[in-house]
Amino acid sequence: MTTKPLGSAELTDLIHGLNRLARNLWWTWNQEAQEIFQKLSPRAWQNLYHNAVAVLHEVSDYELRTRLQEPAFAEEVRTVLNRFDAYLEAPSTWASEHASKLSGNPVAYFSAEFGLSETLPIAAGGLGVLAGDHAKAASDLGLPFVGISLFYRQGYFMQSINEDNWQTEYYAMLNPRNLPMEPVLDAKGEPLTCLVQIATSQVRFRVWRVNVGRIALYLLDTNLPENEEHYRDLTMRVYGGDSTTRIMQEILLGVGGVRLLRALGIQPSTFHMNEGHAAFLTLELMREKLAQGSSLQEAMDATRKECLFTTHTPVEAGHDRFTSDLVQYAVGSMASDLTLSHQSFMDLGRVKEGDEHEPFCMTVLALKQSRAANGVSELHGQISRQMWQGLYPDRSVEQVPIGHITNGIHVAGWMKGPLRRFFRSKLGEDWDHDLNSPGFWQRMEDPDFVSDEELWALRANLRRELIEFARRRLLLQSQHLYRENFITYDQLLKPDALTIGFARRFATYKRAPLVFQQFERIVRLAKDKQRPIQFIFAGKAHPRDDEGKRFIQHIIHLSKHTELHGHLVFLENYDIHIARQMVSGCDVWLNNPRRPLEASGTSGQKTSAHGCLNMSIMDGWWREAYDGTNGFAIGGDEHPDSVEEQDRVDSENLYHVLENEVIASYYHRDADGIPRQWIKKIRRAMATITPEYSTWRMVQDYTNQYYLTGH
Ligand SMILES: *Cc1c(COP(=O)(O)O)cnc(C)c1O
Repeated sequence: MTTKPLGSAELTDLIHGLNRLARNLWWTWNQEAQEIFQKLSPRAWQNLYHNAVAVLHEVSDYELRTRLQEPAFAEEVRTVLNRFDAYLEAPSTWASEHASKLSGNPVAYFSAEFGLSETLPIAAGGLGVLAGDHAKAASDLGLPFVGISLFYRQGYFMQSINEDNWQTEYYAMLNPRNLPMEPVLDAKGEPLTCLVQIATSQVRFRVWRVNVGRIALYLLDTNLPENEEHYRDLTMRVYGGDSTTRIMQEILLGVGGVRLLRALGIQPSTFHMNEGHAAFLTLELMREKLAQGSSLQEAMDATRKECLFTTHTPVEAGHDRFTSDLVQYAVGSMASDLTLSHQSFMDLGRVKEGDEHEPFCMTVLALKQSRAANGVSELHGQISRQMWQGLYPDRSVEQVPIGHITNGIHVAGWMKGPLRRFFRSKLGEDWDHDLNSPGFWQRMEDPDFVSDEELWALRANLRRELIEFARRRLLLQSQHLYRENFITYDQLLKPDALTIGFARRFATYKRAPLVFQQFERIVRLAKDKQRPIQFIFAGKAHPRDDEGKRFIQHIIHLSKHTELHGHLVFLENYDIHIARQMVSGCDVWLNNPRRPLEASGTSGQKTSAHGCLNMSIMDGWWREAYDGTNGFAIGGDEHPDSVEEQDRVDSENLYHVLENEVIASYYHRDADGIPRQWIKKIRRAMATITPEYSTWRMVQDYTNQYYLTGH
C-alpha cells in the first residue's frame, strides 16, 4: 500500500473512475462499490436514498480529493475500479461460449417497467423487478442485449397512509442530472430525438441511456418543449392516467422503441416483449417491411420470425384491452400504413376475427405476431394455453403454442451484507466467483462447511437488521400522524420472535388479509408467551384499486388498534429497498394468492439465499420448487371453484400449517437453544432453490430455448 500522496494524474483518474462507476448500475449488485459511496458520506448515502450519482454531486471536488489522499480509501477505490473494468472487458463470458451467434445482433427486450434500484423508481412491482433482474443477468452472462423502456419523470407513486389508514399517493419529480443515466446524443453532440405518430400528431421523444453492467437500457422521454403539453406529460408516470394515456404510452414504447433502435444502428436478432404492453412494436416491424416492398403476408411472416412474447398473468384485468374508437383515434395512420382497413387492423388484436364487439387486446396481438410465446411457470404455461386456446381453434389445449420458462431473481443483487460477509469469511476474497452454480449452494447442506450454530447466528443477525430497520421506518412514517401518543418503537417487534413477512403489490387476488381471517386464532398464536409470532407487511395498491386500498386499511387498522399491537406492523412505501430488508430478515415468507392467479411470483425466490423459508399456496413458482423439505406448502395441487370456498379452505390450510408445522418446528429447540429441524430446512432451501430460481438460469433458458432458435 502506497503512503506517498497521489499524483494529480492518478487523482484525476480515480475521480473520473468514480464518476463512471456511479453511472453504471453495476454497483447495485457489488457491495464493495456501494460501500465506497457510502463511506464518502454515510449521511448523504442515507438521505439521498443510496444514489451514487447524487452523493458525488453532494461531496465537493475538494473533499473528494482530500478523501482520496487517505491511502486505505484510495486503495479500496482502486480495487473496485479494477474489478469494474475487468468485468466490463472480460474477454470470455457464458454467452461468448454458448451464444456467439448473437454477437452483433442483440436481443432487444421491451418492458414498460424496469426495477433496477430504489434510486430509479420506474417500476410498479414484480414485472419491473423481473425485467431489471433479467438485464443484470444478461450483463453477467455477456449476452448481447439491449433494454427499451420509458423514462417516467415522476416514476411510480410514493405511498403514505393518512389518519383513516387510507393509502394516498404522491409524486416527486426525478432529476436526470442526479440519476445514473445520461442523454443519448446524435452525431452533432445534440440530444438524439426521434418521432412517432400518435393520433394525428408527430410526437418527438428524446432518450436516456442507463448502464447496467455491460448492457444499455434506453428510456424514451417525450418531455420536450416542441411537443403539445399532453404529449409532454405522456411519460410522466408509470401506468398513469386512463386508457388513452395507456395506449399512447404503449405506442411510444413499441413503435418508438423500434425507431430508436434503427436510429442507433442496432439490428436486433430478437424483439422480446416482456408482457403485451410493447406489442405495437410488431406493427412497426411490419410497416418497415411493407415500405421495403414486402406484401402484407410476407411482412407478417417475417415479423413473426423476429418476435418473442412472454405473458405474465392469468388475471383478466392484467391484459390491456382497448375499444375500437380509442384504437382508431390513437394509432393514427398506422392501419392505412399497413394497408389495412380499421376492421382488419382490429382483428390483429381479436381472438374472434370479425367480431366487432371484441376490443383490441395487446396480448392477442403479441401472440399472433410472435414466433414463440411463454408463460412464467409450469402451471402458468398450462393456464395460458387454456386461456388462449380460442386463438388456435384447430388445436387441442396441449398443442397451443405457449411454453414456459419459470422466473428467477438476480442472486447477487439481492444478497445482503451479513450474508456476503459470511461467505467471504468462509471462502475468502474471491468468494463469489461461482455464486450462481448449484455447487456453491449445495455446500450449505454440509455441516462441516457451516454448523447449525453459525447458521442460526446468521439468521439472528439478519432478523435483527430487519427489525431495527422496521422500527426506524415506523418512527419516521408515523411522526406526522400520532406524535401525541409516543409509542415506544423499541418495543415494536421482538428480535427473537418468529417473523413472518408479506410484501408485494396489494392486488386483490394476492389476498393480503387472508391470515387474519380467523382473528382470535391469530391473536392467540401471536401473543403466545413461549412461542410468539409477528408479522411485517408492506405493499402498494394501484391508485385506482379501492379494494386493494381497503386491504391496506384493514391491516393497518389491525396493527394499531387491536390486540395485535406490537405483533403486526405495516411499512409504508414498499420498494426495492424495503424488499431487500424483508426478504433477508424474515423467517417465513408468506404467499397466499388465489390459485392459479399468481403466474410465478418472485419475491419468495429472493428469500432462500438468506435462510428465510417460504410458506405458500401451491401456485406459480412454488408449485415447482417445493419438494417437501425446503419450506412449507399451504394446501395442495387443487382448489375449490367458488371464490368464497377457496378463501375458507385456504385460510384453514394456512392456519393448519402455521400451527402444526411452522411454529412447532421453529420453536422446537434442543438444549443449546438451536432449532435443528428448522435449520435443516434452511439448508435445503438454500441448496435447492437459490441457484435454480435465479435469472442466471432463466436467461440461459431463454437463450437456449428462444433467443438462439429464431433463425
Ligand atoms: C420482488 C418484488 C416484487 C414481486 O413480488 P411478488 O411476490 O412476486 O408479487 C414486487 N415489488 C418489489 C419491490 C419486489 O422487489
